[in-house]
Amino acid sequence: MRFVVKPEANKTDKLKHQDTINALNVIASTKNKDLISDVIYRDSYQDIDEIRSRVEDQLAITYLNKCAYCERLEKADIEHYRPKKSVKGEIHDGYYWLCYEWTNLLPSCVKCNRDGAKLTHFPILGTRVLAPKLLRGRRIDLNCNKAFNKPLIDEIPYLLHPEIDNPQLFFEFELDPSGEGIRLKGIDADGRGVKTIEICKLNRQELRLHRQREVMDPFVESIEAIFAKRTINEIDDNKLVTEITNQLDVLKRNASKVKKSHTLLRKYIIKDEKSFKSIVLPFLDKSIRPILLAAYRNWAK
Ligand SMILES: [Zn+2]
Repeated sequence: MRFVVKPEANKTDKLKHQDTINALNVIASTKNKDLISDVIYRDSYQDIDEIRSRVEDQLAITYLNKCAYCERLEKADIEHYRPKKSVKGEIHDGYYWLCYEWTNLLPSCVKCNRDGAKLTHFPILGTRVLAPKLLRGRRIDLNCNKAFNKPLIDEIPYLLHPEIDNPQLFFEFELDPSGEGIRLKGIDADGRGVKTIEICKLNRQELRLHRQREVMDPFVESIEAIFAKRTINEIDDNKLVTEITNQLDVLKRNASKVKKSHTLLRKYIIKDEKSFKSIVLPFLDKSIRPILLAAYRNWAK
């Protein structure tokens, strides 16, 4: 997960249209969930190759083709952050009045949203909002529909919202004890990080291994190649350190490339010596670790 700015202006024309607001007013005032239409929140169209969705297209632009929750570059569905028709384990009609709300629409991959993951889970810490705020004339108060405004913000959802919550305050990483990749770890006192991991299954095996493959494997291969050249005296000790430093520079550059997958992890591993030692060093041979750590310390100065 990474923090994302999704401007209101990026909404599709159909979501902005007065007809949509009128339709929403009817849904909100009659509570008729059967009127919720994916013609509006998907806005499908046929291009040369396939049926596509204008809303998916806009979300993909904002989220750089990544899933809002797992940060994999993956085909993403339109996911209603607050579920629109029911809330698992709660006596709640669902947040039907947020069905077309821009701050409630996120791109999510199938594995984070379905497959026994998020679906209609939406546990909260604060006060549950049960119904929309209606103004005179049975019009909905659109300001109260924004995820970052009251009363919704006071729900304090356990599930972090990538456009509201800064994931760096909620997560660290650790190695999987069975050697199957890299795990995300919740660190905040309220347990929102832990619960977000649980809701979207952010430590599933496929994702743990994906983090390792995308972020660690290229670095490890480069470092091993450098040490192999040193072993056959193709390079001397000075050149060895220079080449390691170059690879650390690559890690740093990749951490700032927002289009890459797993930017939260990429930032974490070079953040400080503690995270470098706990995540990066164990992937390398014991004989290499002290030299690499010394190079890191020098590079990080
Ligand atoms: Zn995902």
